[in-house]
Amino acid sequence: MKYAIISDIHANLEALEAVFEDIDKNETIDDVLCLGDIVGYGANPNECIELIKQRCPVSILGNHDAAAVDLLSTQHFNIHAKIAIEWTTKELKPKNKEYLTTLPSKKILDPITLVHSTPYEPNMWYYITSLEEAAFNYQYFDTSACFIGHTHIPVIIVLNKDDEVYVHQGSNYQVSGAERVLINVGSVGQPRDRNPNSSYGIFDTDTMEFSFRRVTYDIEKTQAKMRKIKMPEFLANRLVEGR
Ligand code: ZN
Repeated sequence: MKYAIISDIHANLEALEAVFEDIDKNETIDDVLCLGDIVGYGANPNECIELIKQRCPVSILGNHDAAAVDLLSTQHFNIHAKIAIEWTTKELKPKNKEYLTTLPSKKILDPITLVHSTPYEPNMWYYITSLEEAAFNYQYFDTSACFIGHTHIPVIIVLNKDDEVYVHQGSNYQVSGAERVLINVGSVGQPRDRNPNSSYGIFDTDTMEFSFRRVTYDIEKTQAKMRKIKMPEFLANRLVEGR
């Protein structure tokens, strides 16, 4: 199977549509999988949920999705995220709220595991920001590859046959032999690696090849919508800088 794997859409419809357009140009892709945070920050939570529901046979629950339907308190969210969640909760249609409550925290489609935050206790919403944290997390999944989102920063972390854990530099990787990988596919709707273009990944379970894709979208249109609903200016501004 060849999967496109997307994450952290954050109600950015222009970005999501641009990513699906890019995916649809590639006729060899069988399915699109979503790692969560469909909503929060952006102006189109309902439209993004409806598109994901229609296009993704698997979608994982993100912390912003959970907060939008009261499955998670926003006490640990920063002020901008809190304001966005309050607006989102009011905006969501009942059937879309219902959809979010059905999402799983983890899904295994051997040889891949899908979670939003970390394979260790996915409902605790930890972040993987160091090699030590990555090394620890390899004990908590059994497949060759685990795909994550949550930090909005794309990265390929390899565990090689000698038990060494390192970051692979570059946008492609071929998993070979007994190697295992932990891959953050980056964010569709709010990239934070100083590249404002939407990020997603493609993984082929037959060849075990992974590659990142970056896609441009109409950021100004997204920002105008966010300003119209009075989202904090910081959230609109950060999209241009990809941070
Ligand atoms: Zn997110």
